[in-house]
Order: sequence, then structure tokens, then C-alpha cells
Amino acid sequence: MRISFDLDDTLFVNSDKFAVEKPLRFPLNRLFKERLRLGTIDLLEQLRSLGIEVWIYTTSFRSERYIRGLFRCYGIRLDGVVNGKRHAIEVQSDKREPMPSKYPSKYKIDLHIDDDISVKQNGDTYGFRVMIIGENDSDWTRKIIKRVEQISQSNL
Ligand SMILES: [Mg+2]
Repeated sequence: MRISFDLDDTLFVNSDKFAVEKPLRFPLNRLFKERLRLGTIDLLEQLRSLGIEVWIYTTSFRSERYIRGLFRCYGIRLDGVVNGKRHAIEVQSDKREPMPSKYPSKYKIDLHIDDDISVKQNGDTYGFRVMIIGENDSDWTRKIIKRVEQISQSNL
């Protein structure tokens, strides 16, 4: 099973509005300024220990190297990264009709986690699973694990 996460306002959050993980130590905190939403590290470790592939799917143009580097500093190995550039090349490509901003089924992603309701609407239209995680939700990691369990049972 493969799960992907949005970055902005999902895993990378504003520390004024969200509880966050500890910042990296100097000088890494100068290189990687984003703050991870509290619970991210445990959640991603737990998913990977269950044998679930963890991907990042972001419309941002942060480089794959940067994204992988940041998570590696927290001890997390990512199984795949789709950024705005990769999406433009592999999903939108030279198609005439506009493709949705994210298209997880292209990458055989079973569940995508996001904060943007329009991604969920696209999922309903194009047939991919999206789970929306709200801003004020301290229980978010448990909800994701529960959903993952439901999906893996339905795939049996
Ligand atoms: Mg977002």
C-alpha cells in the first residue's frame, strides 16, 4: 500500500497556528526552515513499519533532493516524491485538457492526505482517495492510521 502527503498546511505548517515538531539543530535549521506538524515523525515511522510506502505529493516546486533531505534529517526515508515539476512533466505533459492539480492514481497511490478540499473534489471526480485533515485536529494521526487499516482490509 502506498500513501502520499501534501506538504503546505498538511505536514509543513505555520508554528503560530499549529503544534509542531522540534526544529532541527543548527545549522540544519538554517537550511530546512519548514516546521513539521506535531505527530508527523511518529506517524511516518509507524506507516513505514507497517510496510506502507510513504510518498510526498506537492504542487510546490521544492526539489526532490531538498524534500528528501529534510525528512532524512528527521530519520525518515521517503519512498517517492512528486513535486510540481514532476507532475507537469508526467501528469499534465502535453495533454490539451487541464489535468487536476494532483493525480495520485497516476502513481498507484492508494490514499492521499491533504488540507485542500478541491483536491478531495478532484478525487471524487477522477476516482482517487483523498482524506482531508483540518487545521485544529490533534487526533489527525490516529484518523489516518484508522483509514489505512480500513483500506487495507477492503483490499484483502
Ligand atoms: Mg496544502
